[in-house]
Amino acid sequence: MKISDIIKQQERTLSLEVFPPKTTERYESVQKSVMEIAALKPDFMSVTYGAGGGTSMFTAKLAKEVKDVYGVTAMAHLSCISSSKEMVKEQLNSIKALGLSNILALRGDIPEGFSTDELDYHYANELVKEIKQFDDFCVGGACYPEGHPESGSLTEDIEHLKYKIEAGCEFLTTQMFFDNSLFYKYLEMIGNAGITIPIIAGIMPITNENQVERTLKLSGAFLPKQFIHLLESYSGNAGDFYKAGLDYAVKQVRDLYEHGVKNVHIYTMNKLEVARAIQQAVE
Ligand SMILES: Cc1cc2nc3c(=O)[nH]c(=O)nc-3n(C[C@H](O)[C@H](O)[C@H](O)COP(=O)(O)OP(=O)(O)OC[C@H]3O[C@@H](n4cnc5c(N)ncnc54)[C@H](O)[C@@H]3O)c2cc1C
Repeated sequence: MKISDIIKQQERTLSLEVFPPKTTERYESVQKSVMEIAALKPDFMSVTYGAGGGTSMFTAKLAKEVKDVYGVTAMAHLSCISSSKEMVKEQLNSIKALGLSNILALRGDIPEGFSTDELDYHYANELVKEIKQFDDFCVGGACYPEGHPESGSLTEDIEHLKYKIEAGCEFLTTQMFFDNSLFYKYLEMIGNAGITIPIIAGIMPITNENQVERTLKLSGAFLPKQFIHLLESYSGNAGDFYKAGLDYAVKQVRDLYEHGVKNVHIYTMNKLEVARAIQQAVE
């Protein structure tokens, strides 16, 4: 089923994101975690894409297993910046052959030391266009409530989203954020810019102290006072940190639904207990 149809038909959705293994040796254990999460039967699931390397094919393979074994609609992420046109074609052929109908089209981060002149792709809108020309996929894209790190301003970043939408992008999933008020402001800006496609709010439960530094560095997200309080109060106490981090994410999701946000996506980090606890707490 297409995610655009699920969003249209349902009053609200809760979807879950998982990631594939980095090595072939890790496939079975990651597959087990992903399947346990799929058994929760979320409204849909997405599987991230690690650009390049020999394991990029695991994304579509895991998405197919989620769909076939549990009947959960699945979406394969696909990034283009480190790929040639032929490589993207190859991925699209295998996504199609596996019977998947949803793709999250991403540019990916520019690898260090790369000259962008030599690349086949520069922005996600080029990939969206190509996917739409290739077949009748439902295509989503990424957006950034606090602005993408490379963009000059949030307004400019929002203007750039229009290229993806013109190319056929049907919904946008946000980067993680920890302050809902920034997201509500963003929705207003998006609306004022004339963007009307659904925006899916991406929430990352921080349940482990080791996650903090890397996650925050990658997302560049603003940390509200309550969140800093959580980090400080439970530092060194793994059990309480877990509970407080989960509680923070649950409150964020409840607040989003209460503010009329219809679609929420959880970055599960392949953690079954986190996915289950959030699902139970908000449904
Ligand atoms: C929900 C979500 C899921 C993700 N999943 C993955 C994943 O599975 N694998 C992975 O490798 N990465 C993933 N990422 C990270 C993503 O690849 C990076 O954030 C990347 O730096 C930008 O990708 P994008 O698709 O948003 O790029 P784009 O939409 O191309 O935007 C990149 C920058 O270019 C600007 N821009 C866009 N179009 C134009 C244009 N036509 N002209 C001029 N400027 C333009 C934008 O304002 C922005 O600053 C994900 C991000 C999110 C939010």
